[in-house]
Amino acid sequence: MARPTQFTEALLLRAVDYRDSDRIVTLLSRDHGPISALARGARNSRKRFGGALEPCALLQVELGETRGELFRLASAEVKQHFAGLSRSLDCLRRAGAALKTVRMVLPAEEPAEQAFADTLGLFEHFDAHGSTNWHLLAFQFRLLALAGLSPDLERCGRCDREAPPTRAVLLDLASGRIRCRRCGGADVYLSGEARAWIERVGEGSFLDAEPPSERARVETRRALTGLAAQHLSLELPVDPTD
Ligand SMILES: [Zn+2]
Repeated sequence: MARPTQFTEALLLRAVDYRDSDRIVTLLSRDHGPISALARGARNSRKRFGGALEPCALLQVELGETRGELFRLASAEVKQHFAGLSRSLDCLRRAGAALKTVRMVLPAEEPAEQAFADTLGLFEHFDAHGSTNWHLLAFQFRLLALAGLSPDLERCGRCDREAPPTRAVLLDLASGRIRCRRCGGADVYLSGEARAWIERVGEGSFLDAEPPSERARVETRRALTGLAAQHLSLELPVDPTD
């Protein structure tokens, strides 16, 4: 399939050296979701790529015409630099873990405009206000929601009985649904607070959520780890302070 030359905004997810002077980059692009692109001569050419192939920046990239499997990265320049990310090591690590999560959770070459906007929003927030220990978790639940993997915390997956809104629930990881005690219950306990928080951050504007209590944070992290292991066979990165 031939692809014409086009421009798009992108965040760099990963870059690995290839052959003598090339690099293969994985990008989260605004128009195509996650893509892999061959950057010819990227290790030598300062002209076409400058110092642009770095993770803490919004890039404007030119995808060249190609007939191959990979996109071809013709040029890249920094459009917005998130210098504030490197003011704190924890912040840098959280940003790196967020990018790794994107790479793990989102399918390649499927448009993911909302995920792009949310990742960019996370970086802008970190850049301007710094980060705390629940931001990565909130972002990860948001991505799961965008990938269609949000748990259903409202009704028992067996008998369909509704759990009263503020009540604690038991989450069955395999079905991604709650199971009431009458139906045998399930392993992962979520307090009313943790349950409301997961639903809140999955909806969008996850950065405006109230910080969860430490107990709720531990519960939500356990649910996230379990859901990712069950449904993606993945071990998602955890907060650097955990
Ligand atoms: Zn039930």
